[in-house]
Amino acid sequence: MTEDPRRRTPRTDAVLADPAVAAAAARLGRVRVKTAVAATLEACRSGAVAPEDVVAHVLAVLPASATSLRRVVNATGVVVHTNLGRAPLSPAAVEAVTVAAGATDVELDLATGRRGRRGAAALAALAARVPDAGGVHVVNNGAAALALAACALATGRRIVIARGELVEIGDGFRIPELLESTGASLREVGSTNRVHLADYEAALDDETAFVLKVHPSNFRVEGFTSSVPVDALSALCREHGVPLVVDIGSGLLAPHPRLPDEPDATTVLRDGATLVTASGDKLLGGPQAGLLLGSAELVERLRRHPLARALRVDKLTLAALEATLTGPPPPVAVALAGRPEELLARARRLALAIGPDLATAVESEGRVGGGGAPGLPLPSAAVALPADLAEPLRSGEPPVVGRVADGRLMLDLLAVPAEADDELAEVVRRVATAERAG
Ligand SMILES: *Cc1c(COP(=O)(O)O)cnc(C)c1O
Repeated sequence: MTEDPRRRTPRTDAVLADPAVAAAAARLGRVRVKTAVAATLEACRSGAVAPEDVVAHVLAVLPASATSLRRVVNATGVVVHTNLGRAPLSPAAVEAVTVAAGATDVELDLATGRRGRRGAAALAALAARVPDAGGVHVVNNGAAALALAACALATGRRIVIARGELVEIGDGFRIPELLESTGASLREVGSTNRVHLADYEAALDDETAFVLKVHPSNFRVEGFTSSVPVDALSALCREHGVPLVVDIGSGLLAPHPRLPDEPDATTVLRDGATLVTASGDKLLGGPQAGLLLGSAELVERLRRHPLARALRVDKLTLAALEATLTGPPPPVAVALAGRPEELLARARRLALAIGPDLATAVESEGRVGGGGAPGLPLPSAAVALPADLAEPLRSGEPPVVGRVADGRLMLDLLAVPAEADDELAEVVRRVATAERAG
């Protein structure tokens, strides 16, 4: 008769002293590892885990890293996917974040040993990419940029804005409510579908702090529509001596050939806008940030406003932003440059590698997503799989997120870096095999 395995349950100290478990504790924190050990020993006492398997079991239930966020393969065909963290950082930006993570000279001039301008290099990089901006400033996100402008310029006064541009950004947050929360009031002009220069002109008075033009970045109004272009609006504003603030949303700094209707900072400033606001993690392809570009005097006023301190970005953001602006094209730019025939060739290779019984290469249509070029199809290619693989692939390692259409699961390659193809084929094969076995 063998001894009851429950009597052989090892002691907590002994498990924690195992070199692999000790290494995990150094990496993930002792509390987390102790919790896993306690749960495993409980399972051992109840007979669910054999005493000799305790260490292996502890290591298996521990996460790979100290963040519970997982790296995900974005096979949705949406380049800037809000639920997947918007823009993935470029390898250069990732490296910059790692460098800046420790003690760093973000606010110190190493030559003189004195305090230096915070994030000077990132700001210089932004200014260099948009020479039409007299001044630049960076805050936490696009919403923060708007809030700062409203707070500094319009508290107790009025912002003139077209009714068709009262945008809900997402998760229930609305630009008009954001602006009003700063103590500014709104003077809405025009109708849902149409606004004319005369509407703005009639609304301008002594109470006007600025005119705001917001890019309808996540919806389209079609049919009987009209809006006032920036150049016409800026001429009117100049005549009346009020600033024109333009929220372009996506963060394009210059025109993009594939996105002809998407406003960019350079063009909007050339057309006479006083101030442009934008996000850093949409089409710019960088970290979450809010960009303020425009009149040097106005930007300086915003930068010195007390609220600016509450909205300031951390060193990791500054590092990633600088690397995004000066380094190699970030993944968003690479995806936007993707050629349909190359994507289809990749889809064919992937379908072959996965197995023709399971996978077919098909043409598909991706999207910019995340507040940019709404409705614009981006020609792409996908691997079509049985729809019932959607859930197991989302729970795969790494998780793969595709989209289900016409009863099939589409793994769209537009936002998948080509270097990830082998891993993608491997995880699909592994998951599909497990599904058929199970
Ligand atoms: C995305 C967006 C915002 C909000 O920017 P965040 O960076 O998400 O805060 C504001 N305005 C427009 C037009 C947008 O597209």
